[in-house]
Amino acid sequence: MQLLLADQLGPHFELEEKLLLPIVDGQFSKRNHHRQKAHIIRYAQLARAKASNVQAVRIESYRDLKDFAGLTSMVSGSSRSFDALADSLNLTKLENPGFCSSKQDWSAYLAKAGKRLRLEDFYRLQRTRLGILMEAGEPVGGKWNFDEDNRLPPPKLGLGLPAPYRPAEDELDKIVRAELDELERTGRASFIGVDGPRIFPGDRAQALSALNDFITNRLDLFGPYEDAMDSRDWTMAHSMLSVPMNLGLLSPMEVVTAAVDAYKSGSARLASVEGFVRQIIGWRDYVWQLYWHFDQDYQNLNELEATTALPAGWQDLTAKGIDANCLSSTLKDVSERAWSHHIPRLMVLGNTALQRGFDPRAVNDWFIDAFADGTPWVMPANVIGMSLYADGGKMSTKPYAAGGAYINKMSNYCSSCKFKPTVRVGADACPFTAGYWNFLANNSERLKSNHRMSQPMAGLRRLTDLEQLLVQEQNRESL
Ligand SMILES: Cc1cc2nc3c(=O)[nH]c(=O)nc-3n(C[C@H](O)[C@H](O)[C@H](O)COP(=O)(O)OP(=O)(O)OC[C@H]3O[C@@H](n4cnc5c(N)ncnc54)[C@H](O)[C@@H]3O)c2cc1C
Ligand code: SF4
Repeated sequence: MQLLLADQLGPHFELEEKLLLPIVDGQFSKRNHHRQKAHIIRYAQLARAKASNVQAVRIESYRDLKDFAGLTSMVSGSSRSFDALADSLNLTKLENPGFCSSKQDWSAYLAKAGKRLRLEDFYRLQRTRLGILMEAGEPVGGKWNFDEDNRLPPPKLGLGLPAPYRPAEDELDKIVRAELDELERTGRASFIGVDGPRIFPGDRAQALSALNDFITNRLDLFGPYEDAMDSRDWTMAHSMLSVPMNLGLLSPMEVVTAAVDAYKSGSARLASVEGFVRQIIGWRDYVWQLYWHFDQDYQNLNELEATTALPAGWQDLTAKGIDANCLSSTLKDVSERAWSHHIPRLMVLGNTALQRGFDPRAVNDWFIDAFADGTPWVMPANVIGMSLYADGGKMSTKPYAAGGAYINKMSNYCSSCKFKPTVRVGADACPFTAGYWNFLANNSERLKSNHRMSQPMAGLRRLTDLEQLLVQEQNRESL
């Protein structure tokens, strides 16, 4: 009998006739999870358990699986802790089919890359190997990426897109709510965030509707506005498909194929389709492979010796005491939906955590718990590496620190903020602008040998009010 974990709920994971689906009540007991994250996982499991070949079992912990004899095969779990448990239970581990590359493909990449790991090289290899957007061995359109057509700020009048797909709640949602209430009442879980209406697809049919909605209504504008943030539009043209993909309800290859078909039929421009494909066969797979490539200690790296605890307004998602409009709006979005798109994650939340020296492991775990798509494999490369530079540059060649000027250019947050993005000292000083220089000054010794930081470092040396700024930031009580 094959074990079916919560990230393996679609048809491409069904390798054996009989499936055992464990519903683990203790799953949310160790840390506070977003209520909507717990809801979508539980909903998707109960929906999957309706199939006649699936036997659902309720257990308190994965360790209780030892009571089940004859579990002969499973696909490898999505986290090291499960992997270790699988070893202790003597389960056969098969390769996870939820990605677009295998261990062998990764080895082939490593053989070419040597020690210099770069997403771009991995992505090109993936495109070539999979034959996606390729013509006679060359990239369609003559270029591997169309970044110069993308990265536009939000348009003044908004994107004008229809609201994204939202599943209709049903009886199962009621059952899930009752179960989660019971877990809280009996002290086995404590949730954060708003228990909003369910916004993510929880079964295969809903997932296909969400995919179709994205391809038809949003994909064409994905590329140009990929990096833009708009307080009036929380999705922009993003797909919101990470949740169904991470639950295993959609296979990444079917998502990519649907996007490429939209380009072929003329309904989506190449810059958008290429940009979207890169996120999936590139970033998603790269991050997955890196999770297994780096050793277990990677998630405990702390190159910048950052030790600040997460503020209360992050831990409970209330944004309590936070005046910075970009940050409080993003935390409010996370509280309401357990989701935000990539740029608020990286350039608002990640940027704050980097500038303010939040403990990297605490940030890593917070993202896993607060986001509906959060998984142990996705976070280390995105948080420890990309956002916090806690790996000292294994993932990125320089820290992703940015001041208010970037946020002002790529969003409309600043126009209704009490701070001014151009001001770095005084009552109006933008905490991101001041925080940027403060970060550079505090880490100047570590960063001075990084040639990609030489320009910002030269800018730092030219600041005439640096001393004032450093005192201001040292005394800052809230953002
Ligand atoms: C700090 C931080 C935390 C993140 N946390 C998560 C997370 O918990 N779960 C998660 O799946 N992704 C995470 N990401 C990556 C990315 O932000 C999300 O995948 C994306 O925002 C999900 O929304 P979407 O489905 O609309 O993505 P789209 O913008 O529509 O992109 C399409 C797909 O590409 C994939 N993708 C794009 N970028 C990445 C990336 N950097 N890493 C992995 N996959 C990527 C996702 O599967 C996504 O669904 C995080 C990134 C950062 C910087
Ligand atoms: S002024 Fe600064 S704090 Fe306010 S929204 Fe802009 S970047 Fe954020």
